[in-house]
Amino acid sequence: SNWISVDKARQTSAIAPDAEIRGWVRTRRDSKGGFSFIEINDGSCFGNLQVVAPAELPNYADEIQKLSVGCSVVIVGEIKESPAAGQPTELHATNVRVLGWADPETYPMQKKRHTFEKLREWAHLRPRTNTFGAVARVRNQISQSIHHFFNDNGFFYTHTPIITASDCEGAGEMFRVTSLDLEMLAKKGGPVNYKYDFFEKPAHLTVSGQLNGEAYATAMGRIYTFGPTFRAENSNTSRHLAEFWMVEPEAAFFDLSDNMKLAEDFLKRIFTDCLNKCGEDMKFFDERIEKGKIEQLTAVIEKPFAHMTYTDAVDVLTSSSEKFEYPVQWGTDLQAEHERFLTEKHVGGPLILTDYPSTIKPFYMRVSDDGKTVAAMDVLVPGVGEIIGGSQREERLDVLLSRMDEAGLNQADYDWYIDLRRFGTVPHAGFGLGLERAVQYATGMANIRDVIPFPRTPGNADF
Ligand code: ATP
Ligand code: MG
Ligand code: MG
Ligand code: MG
Repeated sequence: SNWISVDKARQTSAIAPDAEIRGWVRTRRDSKGGFSFIEINDGSCFGNLQVVAPAELPNYADEIQKLSVGCSVVIVGEIKESPAAGQPTELHATNVRVLGWADPETYPMQKKRHTFEKLREWAHLRPRTNTFGAVARVRNQISQSIHHFFNDNGFFYTHTPIITASDCEGAGEMFRVTSLDLEMLAKKGGPVNYKYDFFEKPAHLTVSGQLNGEAYATAMGRIYTFGPTFRAENSNTSRHLAEFWMVEPEAAFFDLSDNMKLAEDFLKRIFTDCLNKCGEDMKFFDERIEKGKIEQLTAVIEKPFAHMTYTDAVDVLTSSSEKFEYPVQWGTDLQAEHERFLTEKHVGGPLILTDYPSTIKPFYMRVSDDGKTVAAMDVLVPGVGEIIGGSQREERLDVLLSRMDEAGLNQADYDWYIDLRRFGTVPHAGFGLGLERAVQYATGMANIRDVIPFPRTPGNADF
């Protein structure tokens, strides 16, 4: 057959006597001239293809006139230049085959708009809407760009484990993994040892692939991981999920400034690709979701990111007249409201904050000469807050060991990680970008639940 996507069919280059389109009806209406206009979408692009179906078709009254939103169809016909404004082509149907009906009485995805909150109840049907189709294509583009960027820069794509014993972040946000049928064991009268339940050993879902990534970076030079990450975040915010996707590059012979440059180049590449390759989708976000998004991203790509130390940021915050809910004090982590103030009001764009107090950062970050701060960097953006967290890693064996002691970690549990410093240690650095936060920033979507197909939040794993 001469099947082509709606995306292709909407270009003048598709003009041809014979083509086949497969998709779903978005709208249908009768025209005075004795034919039907049907708008078809197949997910390949934001726009629809207009189909003109003449009354002479044998199933015109029985089927074509009964088509409603969501019906699936295969349509054969001629792609012609369209006389209508706003679309270069249209399809003049010679055959319309209905594959699946969608009863308008019960199908919820009608023309009437639902709130995003309501649409979360139909996570399986919402990709059929304009907004969620656009989000899915931008999310795809960012995922592809991630691979392209790192491959272009000599980073090997490495896979780190999802089941792991180590708590990389030390934030106590790990989901425990079990291989035991606890209910069955309880029925048998126990004993049920919840602590050692991954085949009699403790194990969790990964909160970060970084430690394993470091093992590969200190052999391969440059690597990145990109996969699902789990955190038992028992809070309901618009930027935290229990399951999200994280990209984690790690590079040997990198210091903090190399790392900052990598993060900036990386983000710029992602946003450039969104603008260049998802033009129609981005136009939609710009017009309907966050006014001025395209102009904002264009400025982000053109200008160097602002930099500031944590200490300077605390000064800016404490000397501002803004009323914050949480007080700011050197040595405490910044809250979302503080990050928003810094990016939105103080800088007006992305901001890289560096040199955080060692007491609020994990054990693996490199201690600076002042003994009080670590070579950490967070990239903050307006509207979202932190999208990247990274650091130069502690490569000195003695310093690492004392940091682990301070953090109360058992050295034996991390013996393999310590080996990386025992044998051929090198300065190295890396960061983690939350994919969903990048998609939120690129699209302007306010809630992280609306940029991942099936969001996992406390108590929600239904779909
Ligand atoms: P936050 O301060 O927002 O809780 P974090 O500092 O705990 O983030 P990191 O451990 O630095 O997060 O992880 C690296 C990146 O992963 C973050 O910058 C963010 O983009 C993303 N991220 C972290 N936690 C989540 C989450 N629960 N849901 C979605 N993305 C997340
Ligand atoms: Mg967190
Ligand atoms: Mg943080
Ligand atoms: Mg962080």
